[in-house]
Amino acid sequence: MRKIALEEHFTTPELAKNYVARPTQSDALFADVERRLADFDELRLEKMDKTGIEMMVLSVTTPGVQGVSDSREAIRLAHSANDFLAREVQKRPDRYAGFAHLAMQDADAAAVELERAVRELGFRGALINGQTNGHYLDEDRYVPFWERVQELDVPVYLHPGNMADHPAMFAHRPELDGPIFAWTADTAAHALRLVFGGTLTRFPQVKIILGHMGETLPFLLWRLDSRREFDLGEELAPEALPSAIIKRNIAITTSGVCDAGALLAAIQALGDDNIMFSVDYPYEDPQVAADFIESAPIGEVARTKVCYGNAERLLHL
Ligand code: MN
Repeated sequence: MRKIALEEHFTTPELAKNYVARPTQSDALFADVERRLADFDELRLEKMDKTGIEMMVLSVTTPGVQGVSDSREAIRLAHSANDFLAREVQKRPDRYAGFAHLAMQDADAAAVELERAVRELGFRGALINGQTNGHYLDEDRYVPFWERVQELDVPVYLHPGNMADHPAMFAHRPELDGPIFAWTADTAAHALRLVFGGTLTRFPQVKIILGHMGETLPFLLWRLDSRREFDLGEELAPEALPSAIIKRNIAITTSGVCDAGALLAAIQALGDDNIMFSVDYPYEDPQVAADFIESAPIGEVARTKVCYGNAERLLHL
């Protein structure tokens, strides 16, 4: 079955030097990742052809400019990464599409750059690598940014990045850092800040995409509702329940979770219109991801939606 994949990463020569996270202790694995992040012509296309991935929506790998402390430098690097990606997409518009890279150090500049990326470069939305210098996207400073997102009608992929500080719960346990668990905890909390902090109530048409089968949120819906009502001591209107906001505003991808049990739970929790296939290339193997989705114990209508239908609808492809 043909497939669109939307958590697929690259880096630019400029960002490669300082702004690529290293989520493995193996030099050999990391060297392979670096090679694949920089490639658009051979390794990537070969894998796509082999696995029926018709299109990859590309994004700058974590942290990118989310890891830059100086605002002006972050704005410059993001602008130049978007131009770089636009040139690659232009060479193969039938195989590649783009998510904008944005310097969230400056919300107004990020709104302007998102608009440029969507209207002038033809990008399909943005992908943001977690917090930026300790700031999360539910803060008041980002209201003008979300206004622009809603107006442009493009999704924002909330992708993991490192935490701003090192909380005690991870002290002396470096095994839990990075994608094993710390990124999941940070990204799930980031998404819940948008739900509980009112951003997604104020901007009901905004679509957030979460990778990694929803960063655990599909498992938490019932408990979020139950404990929120208990916390407030009152019953919430059905549309004000955290689960209702999540189902309305958040879609997820299967990136990096090739697990049938998790997929079935996610479909049950969010519905098959809210789940999209992805790989998380080059950190995951497209063959494993493709075999997983082709053989997952779901109906053919759901498989079609997950493999490409939902992505086409949400990204206006
Ligand atoms: Mn990723």
